[in-house]
Amino acid sequence: MAIPAPFCASGPDDAVLVIGGGIVGLAQAYALCRRGHAVRLFESGPDFAGRASHANGGHLSTDSGAPWVSPSILPELVHWLFDRHRPLSVKPVAMGLAGWSWLLAARRHLGFDCYLESRRRLHALTDFSVTAWQRIETELEAPLAPGRGVLYLYRNLREWNQAHRLLERERMIGVQAVPVLAEEAPAYVPELTASKIRPAGGIWYPGDRFGDCREAAHRLAGWVESHGGLLHRDTPVRAVETIGGRVRIRTDHGLYTGVAVVIAAGVDSPALTRPLGIPLRLCPVKGYTRTYAGSPLASSGPALADHSRKVVLTPLDRVLRVAGMAEFAGLDDRPVPRYFTRLHETATDWLPGLAQIPSTLDWACLRAMTADGLPLLGATRRPGVFLNTGHGPLGWTLAAGTAELVADAIEGKGPVPGRTSASAAPA
Ligand SMILES: Cc1cc2nc3c(=O)[nH]c(=O)nc-3n(C[C@H](O)[C@H](O)[C@H](O)COP(=O)(O)OP(=O)(O)OC[C@H]3O[C@@H](n4cnc5c(N)ncnc54)[C@H](O)[C@@H]3O)c2cc1C
Repeated sequence: MAIPAPFCASGPDDAVLVIGGGIVGLAQAYALCRRGHAVRLFESGPDFAGRASHANGGHLSTDSGAPWVSPSILPELVHWLFDRHRPLSVKPVAMGLAGWSWLLAARRHLGFDCYLESRRRLHALTDFSVTAWQRIETELEAPLAPGRGVLYLYRNLREWNQAHRLLERERMIGVQAVPVLAEEAPAYVPELTASKIRPAGGIWYPGDRFGDCREAAHRLAGWVESHGGLLHRDTPVRAVETIGGRVRIRTDHGLYTGVAVVIAAGVDSPALTRPLGIPLRLCPVKGYTRTYAGSPLASSGPALADHSRKVVLTPLDRVLRVAGMAEFAGLDDRPVPRYFTRLHETATDWLPGLAQIPSTLDWACLRAMTADGLPLLGATRRPGVFLNTGHGPLGWTLAAGTAELVADAIEGKGPVPGRTSASAAPA
């Protein structure tokens, strides 16, 4: 069902201001606009979804979405010391004090009970958000994430046994997944019969979906603009201020006031909140993606994930996207070329046919990570200032749901359930 126009009545001072034109900011603008709020969004770049939302892994991880910091990370770290394909790189100096303080905070989430609690909350959020995406797809009459089902592959038996055991516990919190024996994998993904290697086992997530995040962001932008929302490109926000129950932002093109502001600026969010006395413990973690001009996998699915190397292989519309890597190097988003080669090597282990397909885009960008994997949402101690940031490796998955929760908070419908992170200053 398409939503009738116009929903927004954009007066000059009664708008909710949104900072950031990635998938999170645009989903926020959409949620507010469809509820009848006047909306103004500010994006510093020339186009929307130009940063982390540009060319990500594409998965809506309904059931597989888990916090990165988990009890299994310590044995994995030891194993990675001797693995050329380790998915993690730490640049101790470039990380800076903020990065080190984040790592110290992450230590607290290594315990099993702590992990399971974060996993439970995250699953509630991913489930809620993917349902919100389904509703948006109906409203926009557009299949934003048409692909269905993701098969996670494990390279060694130790990892697979561990994942298998963990799944027993995760099922109790509503995770839907099926363990897959090595010999069963080609029944899920027939293209695996051509693989150079054989998995030790797999886990099948039938409820996971996938699609192009950038395409979705642009659809949302088009809808908001055609329903009266004002989207400002090339407009970096320099400062956020609160004055007499209202909010004001400073841009290179002037001052704008509004009834509330939502900070959805990804890794740049802390720079905007710090002067307001709101410290955010967010760590920028660089990821890499390579997009191939064709795909051995059908875009309707399923997609693959190499769990051991933390790499996803996602068929999108006539292309294949390979994504992975976690590089802790502060706010430096320059790519290290050899990591693209590693992605290629991992992808061609499973899909050797990719070696003949040229790549069309190599992309590196920063995820804004919290220590427990849950985003920072809702009100802050400054009246009228709201957060929607810190979505880490799951921003495409979570954006539709977190937009609804933050819109509820702006409307005074109570605190955001199941959240917010200890990384945020208390509201
Ligand atoms: C390699 C990789 C693979 C990934 N795969 C997946 C996946 O499969 N599934 C999934 O769910 N997620 C995935 N993610 C995570 C997801 O891409 C991010 O969580 C998501 O894009 C974050 O969206 P965002 O809008 O918060 O940030 P961004 O997309 O970075 O948007 C923030 C925007 O704010 C703007 N901005 C910043 N400061 C200002 C300012 N002062 N004024 C105005 N504008 C400003 C920036 O220009 C930017 O456009 C992946 C990430 C990476 C790196």
